[in-house]
Amino acid sequence: DAPIAVADPEVAVVIDAELARQRSGLEMIASENHTAFSVMQAQGSVLTNKYAEGYPGRRYYGGCEHVDVIEQLAIDRVKALFGAEYANVQPHSGAQANASVMHALIKPGDTIMGLNLAHGGHLTHGMKINFSGRLYNVVPYQVREDTHQVDMAEVERLALEHKPALIVAGWSAYARQLDFAQFRRIADLVGAYLMVDMAHFAGLVAAGLHPSPVPHAHVTTSTTHKTLAGPRGGIILCNDAAIAKKINSAVFPGQQGGPLEHVIASKAVAFKIAASPEFAERQERVLLGARLLAERLIQPDVAAKGISVISGGTDVHLVLVDLRNCVLNGQQAEDRLATIDITVNRNAVPFDPRPPMVTSGLRIGTPALATRGFGEAAFVEVADIIAEALMADDDADLSGLHQRVHELAGAHPLYASVAALS
Ligand code: PLP
Repeated sequence: DAPIAVADPEVAVVIDAELARQRSGLEMIASENHTAFSVMQAQGSVLTNKYAEGYPGRRYYGGCEHVDVIEQLAIDRVKALFGAEYANVQPHSGAQANASVMHALIKPGDTIMGLNLAHGGHLTHGMKINFSGRLYNVVPYQVREDTHQVDMAEVERLALEHKPALIVAGWSAYARQLDFAQFRRIADLVGAYLMVDMAHFAGLVAAGLHPSPVPHAHVTTSTTHKTLAGPRGGIILCNDAAIAKKINSAVFPGQQGGPLEHVIASKAVAFKIAASPEFAERQERVLLGARLLAERLIQPDVAAKGISVISGGTDVHLVLVDLRNCVLNGQQAEDRLATIDITVNRNAVPFDPRPPMVTSGLRIGTPALATRGFGEAAFVEVADIIAEALMADDDADLSGLHQRVHELAGAHPLYASVAALS
């Protein structure tokens, strides 16, 4: 029972370094969050020792009486949170959840439609070397060049022409809301399944601040670690008994073996938190922060440097910065913010002339900062720091901005009760 500091000081030191990094900098990767201490406690529990192939009450291993309770709690809580009739909480990740749905509902060689990766879609929505692009015939849809928004007329035209078996609605880099009712109407028109991947905006849905896809989609998938602020993992929701049965067998034994019951326990904890009024209030600050950032980045001083915001603003937790007309590319902009301890990721923007490893965009999200307690004044300050950093000349001294970042971080302590391990 030696603690990690004794058993493996090499690893303990690195975990401590990561804790220090998260505390001293500002995490603005849109798909990340700071999960609750209680979520991490559940993940670090003895549940990690247990094999539990199967589902609650129907396991292939003995000794599952406690993990059955845990998994049923997670199922019941996530069903209540999103108003779904059936839930599978076993997918190890968002990618596994999506693979399981496709495995359940369609066959290799079938046609699927999804948002083009370069326009904000996810790898699992049909990228060429992902399983989705290798197993299925992919017909991507795009955003319009003038509005940077998904063009439902194009989705309908492509669906009528290609008769997909499955349409995926969802995104990893898109700052607006999708019209789920329209997607379902089009899916019904061609006899396709509609799968909504709400990985990015699930926390907003849980808080009632984003329309829910669950009543519209045949199946809704999500990760649990982005706006939802739980452990890394996936979930699958639906309202149809026959589809639910297919999905359960596609997850296990179709795609996975033993479920990660320690992660499922921490999902249960996260779902409880996500149903609280405090969580809803936090998501309001997520949206406020993103809106304030977008507003700062469309001001004339920023525009004069060739910087703008894709789609002109945001309705969600992220802002897509458009650097196509800026001397700074996505890689340089990401590196520059890293030097002042703001972590973001470069991201291709629609119709990006620069290569995918360089890009002409940044994806900047506010969930982690909202979790850390950022309110209006702090978000105004961070928006200004980002604007100043992006407008600066290459050889400018950024130490003043760096200092402002550390002041913000210091004023919003993270994991105050967590002690170093080494
Ligand atoms: N779906 C969407 C829309 C995502 O953005 C992501 C992750 O970025 C995933 C699925 C995959 O999740 P995971 O990284 O857990 O496999």
